Amino acid sequence: GPRGNFVPPIRNNSGNTRTMAGSRMSGKGDDDGLEDSTRKCMEMLCGPDGEIPDKLKNIEPRLIEHISNEIMEKDPNVRWSDIAGLEHAKKCVMEMVIYPLLRPDIFRGCRSPGRGLLLFGPPGTGKTMIGKAIAGEAKATFFYISASSLTSKWIGEGEKLVRALFGVASCRQPAVIFVDEIDSLLSQRKSEGEHESSRRIKTQFLIEMEGFDSGNDQILLIGATNRPQELDEAARRRLARRLYIPLPSSEARACIIRTLLEKDGLLKLSPDDVGTICRMTEGYSGSDMKNLVKDACMGPLREALMQGTEIIKLKKEDLRPVNLKDFEDSLQEIRPSVALSEIAIYEEWNQQFGSSK
Ligand code: ADP
Repeated sequence: GPRGNFVPPIRNNSGNTRTMAGSRMSGKGDDDGLEDSTRKCMEMLCGPDGEIPDKLKNIEPRLIEHISNEIMEKDPNVRWSDIAGLEHAKKCVMEMVIYPLLRPDIFRGCRSPGRGLLLFGPPGTGKTMIGKAIAGEAKATFFYISASSLTSKWIGEGEKLVRALFGVASCRQPAVIFVDEIDSLLSQRKSEGEHESSRRIKTQFLIEMEGFDSGNDQILLIGATNRPQELDEAARRRLARRLYIPLPSSEARACIIRTLLEKDGLLKLSPDDVGTICRMTEGYSGSDMKNLVKDACMGPLREALMQGTEIIKLKKEDLRPVNLKDFEDSLQEIRPSVALSEIAIYEEWNQQFGSSK
């Protein structure tokens, strides 16, 4: 079948390209030719009796190790409350994905949710944060992969890595697979320009998604994109729920400023000052706001150095608090990264294909 992989009959002792053709790990023995770290990874995914899960049998252990160590995040550590604003998106996500992951017994049959969620909107608005928070809330394992790394870094091996990714995720359920820049994988630009290898990655990806969509697996695929208009019809169909993650509102921007400054014990601005900054930052994304706060926090330090204080002798407690003027200065340097004209494109796409208008 399309998932089958050719397993060479002769063992290749380099341990590089061979798969685990047998059905169980060979225990302590060194005769399997695996590095210790690779063996450890495999053992963690095996059943209590050392049985290798079916999904991993034809996958190269080194790819499984890469997925376990680089793609799987042990502790995404983002809480729902860390995400400013986006109340509507959070509410939809709760109902669409978190409840079903927590209570698969209730969300069956007519209530069964699709397994694909698309988060689209300008860059730096919290899409990745939402993915991580979902994994945390649903007590799921979080896998993060950037689609462009599949096509660039893993030339010729991308499709194998995709199989390994879904294979490991199925052993780590419930699981959330977050694919950043999913447009670069599932875009509608193809034919002549498209590389044979990226076409194969895309096909493998769609096969895997088809597979878990029809089964009972507790795997959620989240695709994130800044270019939803590039997704083709097949991708849209599989990412059945599509949520617009817009630029932060004025309240959300205020929340980001307060949270970041408070975290460092630097919040000395009055509510009026915070309001003024919010009025001046219309069109700034969440990550623009973060950059702005960081730059403004440099204000007191720059001033002290200008006045001749040596950095070595500088006492932290002598630095004055960050004030409105620091923000006004930083606003000259830190400009919004999203053009207003782009917003119209997202809104139009949301009207046409979004799950909640
Ligand atoms: P995206 O995936 O949409 O490109 P990220 O989720 O990676 O954006 O956000 C980048 C950074 O910007 C975050 O680490 C966070 O510091 C900040 N940020 C963006 N949106 C928000 C938000 N809604 N609330 C709090 N911080 C945000």
